[in-house]
Amino acid sequence: MSVDLPVLDAHLSDAERELLQDCHRLAEETLTPIAEAGPEGRVNTDLLSALAEHDLFGRLFAADGDDWRGDVSAIDLCLIREGLARGCTEAETAFAVQGLGSFPLLQSGTPAARRRWVPGLDRGEYAAGFALSEPQAGSDVSALDLRAEADGDGFRLTGEKVWISNAPDAGVYTVFARTTPGAGARGLTAFVVPADSPGLRGEPLELVAPHPVGRLIFEDVPVAADQILGEVDRGFAVAMRTLDLFRPSVGAFAVGMARAALDEAVRYANERHAFGRPLREFQAVSHRHADIAARVQGARLLVHHAARAYDAGVRPVAQAAAMAKLVATEVAQEAVDAAIQTLGARGLQRGHRLEHLYREVRAPRIYEGASEIQREIIARGLFAPDTKDAR
Ligand SMILES: Cc1cc2nc3c(=O)[nH]c(=O)nc-3n(C[C@H](O)[C@H](O)[C@H](O)COP(=O)(O)OP(=O)(O)OC[C@H]3O[C@@H](n4cnc5c(N)ncnc54)[C@H](O)[C@@H]3O)c2cc1C
Repeated sequence: MSVDLPVLDAHLSDAERELLQDCHRLAEETLTPIAEAGPEGRVNTDLLSALAEHDLFGRLFAADGDDWRGDVSAIDLCLIREGLARGCTEAETAFAVQGLGSFPLLQSGTPAARRRWVPGLDRGEYAAGFALSEPQAGSDVSALDLRAEADGDGFRLTGEKVWISNAPDAGVYTVFARTTPGAGARGLTAFVVPADSPGLRGEPLELVAPHPVGRLIFEDVPVAADQILGEVDRGFAVAMRTLDLFRPSVGAFAVGMARAALDEAVRYANERHAFGRPLREFQAVSHRHADIAARVQGARLLVHHAARAYDAGVRPVAQAAAMAKLVATEVAQEAVDAAIQTLGARGLQRGHRLEHLYREVRAPRIYEGASEIQREIIARGLFAPDTKDAR
């Protein structure tokens, strides 16, 4: 059995297949040793440099005269994330968060702000962060209350962000703050905030996975008018437009991990003998992975469908993005669990690839909208398709 049957990629163009395979190979052969040599749970600057050197950040950022555009297609974003995740989850995360943290700037920043920040991000000199979640506002973004108080032409930010990928090591953050108290989702504004701003500090938080994540504390942090991304009080739309692009690609990250788990299970079931025959000859084993392979491919097609809908300009795209993220992240969890069942004890040994995937695969069912939130979005489309809520 091969987990790389050509027919599974029949819906992709030659260039897309090549991109996927190149990213997988690069992650396995070149990026894994760099990730392993880096500090666990912190931004790995060598990994950022390697991603830049192999022009992966060049897929996110495109120079446009003396300005910059966010040029990545959703399908390429998904294929890069799947390929990297199948070979090296840390490389995948470093790539993805650079995109997530910078997309609000690319999409809604002033040309001057883009000129100031994007070149360093493109060269991998520093990391970006997307700072939305707060201790009292995770799933419910409308409850967000990091205060932005008017100060001359700009604002001063006071409050706390938590579970922010790449914090506190990032060089620049896109920060969502409350400009109008009591206005729910309508009173939020997005800002670009350099990490060395006076009054901004942070600390790392440790998770079960080696994902760099931390807390940020804002004490009267000054932000000038040209640090506003988009319009005042319209920050929610900036965040949602970003998630429309990135949510299907979280599904792609999950698919990459599921395929890595399947790789391990198939290899082991071919090699390991028990009761006088290879494990693959026990139908309980081969059918377990046959089911997983079919469901992972189904999830993958949902991911690619959502990405192509986004690229075709279909709006709203949230229903398709929610289906893709929900199904892919849930099946990836099962794929990793099934692979560990097939490998037995060695899959649980610290340092084994499956032990690593077991820790990594859990978080995507929570971030960028927990599975329950994705179901809410899908249900709104079913039961209230004509309202704005169906978004
Ligand atoms: C590895 C990792 C990286 C992250 N990176 C970032 C980042 O870069 N930037 C950022 O801003 N945030 C980030 N987050 C935070 C993440 O987005 C939040 O954890 C997520 O939005 C959920 O918020 P919460 O943890 O506060 O859970 P809560 O909002 O407290 O929800 C807890 C649980 O309640 C249930 N629930 C909530 N609402 C509903 C509902 N309407 N219906 C049914 N059930 C519901 C769900 O099961 C949910 O998991 C990251 C989190 C992790 C784990």
